[in-house]
Amino acid sequence: MTPERYQKIRRVLARRQPTLTVLMDEVNKPHNFSAILRTCDAVGVLTAHAVPPKSGVLPTFDATSGSAHKWVAVQRQPDAVTAVRQLQAAGMQVLATHLSQRSLDYREPDYTRPTCVLLGAEKWGVSDEAAEIADTNIVIPMFGMVQSLNVSVAAATILFEAQRQRLSAGMYDTPQLAPAELDRLAFEWAYPDLAAGYRERGERYPALDEAGQLVR
Ligand code: SAM
Repeated sequence: MTPERYQKIRRVLARRQPTLTVLMDEVNKPHNFSAILRTCDAVGVLTAHAVPPKSGVLPTFDATSGSAHKWVAVQRQPDAVTAVRQLQAAGMQVLATHLSQRSLDYREPDYTRPTCVLLGAEKWGVSDEAAEIADTNIVIPMFGMVQSLNVSVAAATILFEAQRQRLSAGMYDTPQLAPAELDRLAFEWAYPDLAAGYRERGERYPALDEAGQLVR
């Protein structure tokens, strides 16, 4: 671990937005799943949520994702309705990407609030049930012959609007993670194998100095 690499890890973590997330509902194509994670990394999503497709297996990482899966944790969820309720109970507004009578233009919501963007499966989109219990339905206006965008393109469009609003609000200027949480994640990102060993033994991570070296 070089000091430069460790400082980059800390800079990235200092911009992570624990109050911004996505819920992927049965997104089944690995290149879409990975592209969404890559966008999550770019805008600062700390943890993404995903309901696996019917196979029960979350689509695996593919070569185009630039290893974003290493930097964005994925929390597996049993189904979209349970996940929406759980995220709402944790204080998030859930914005379902779904065309309905109450759909808003995706630029209208306030993304500086704790927010989860619910994304649907490539074939059938967000279920009516999940869309109904979501706080709001949002759409990216479409003026062409085709009815929908690729799910990873839709995710990027919406998440960069969230990034724009959060940048204006100064939410990338001060760390949104608590100091102890930032230190914990910095250790895990810098020394993933060592961290796994400490966790297995139930031990606390050792302190690191400013250059990312273990303090003996
Ligand atoms: N046949 C599906 C339907 O009727 O919803 C199309 C699903 S679309 C290919 C896959 C996902 O991409 C959607 O569930 C949504 O999350 C996102 N998406 C695509 N186009 C969108 C748009 N114009 N606005 C918002 N989300 C969109």
